[in-house]
Amino acid sequence: MTTSSPVPRTDDAGSDRPRALLERAATGRDSQAWSDLWTELYHNGSLEVAHPLVLHTLADMAQGDHADTAASALHLAGALLVQSDQRHETRNLRHQYAPEVARLLGAANRWRQVTVDRNDYCHLVEAVLNLEGDIHWAEDLIWGIVSEEYELECPDPDGCASLWVIIGERGFFSTAEDHALSDDDVETFPLHPAEPGTLEGLGRRLYDLARADGHEEIARALTYAFGEATCPECEQRFSVVGQVVARSG
Ligand SMILES: [Zn+2]
Repeated sequence: MTTSSPVPRTDDAGSDRPRALLERAATGRDSQAWSDLWTELYHNGSLEVAHPLVLHTLADMAQGDHADTAASALHLAGALLVQSDQRHETRNLRHQYAPEVARLLGAANRWRQVTVDRNDYCHLVEAVLNLEGDIHWAEDLIWGIVSEEYELECPDPDGCASLWVIIGERGFFSTAEDHALSDDDVETFPLHPAEPGTLEGLGRRLYDLARADGHEEIARALTYAFGEATCPECEQRFSVVGQVVARSG
């Protein structure tokens, strides 16, 4: 599946750099090009996200038949759109490039259904959410599923210490200390996963999606992310996802 959509003409003098980087990235063998794209488009903004080639070429890559290149393109495009939403407090970039965003989203949903690797799948779900643009904290939500832990603040207004919510091979619990770095005798509090039947909204949708796509273990992890944890300091129970949202500001 190759795309035949024409690359838009660009006449501005600064177009060589994005064109060159995107061409190198599209080969799928140049990780430095991807690193440079992230730096120059996302981190320092020295390249213009609204440049006509950027989302257009990323959409072409997403619709190509190389899974890794498509995943990289979807990840970057989703992050750029969410950053633009937040930076400008408008959805202008999404509106300006609506056909490209639609192509990216369609590709993300196709790749999601055929991706077996756990973490690759998680990043495609993140891309879907970022491309849809309804929430700005998909990265934070998915990061915890991938890394199997969330570092959060207790919602208590008096402020408890940071806490960790562990979801995965090390168990399902909250703790005041970074469990990975500490002795085994650290006090832990079991998590309270959501009953799948009671999930609503985004939790319901992501849970159903993961199961339909054959990722039972991710579906189970999501019941913890959309469930409750106990603060190790004040022992108050709170919504994990609620504090993920709170932390992402
Ligand atoms: Zn607390």
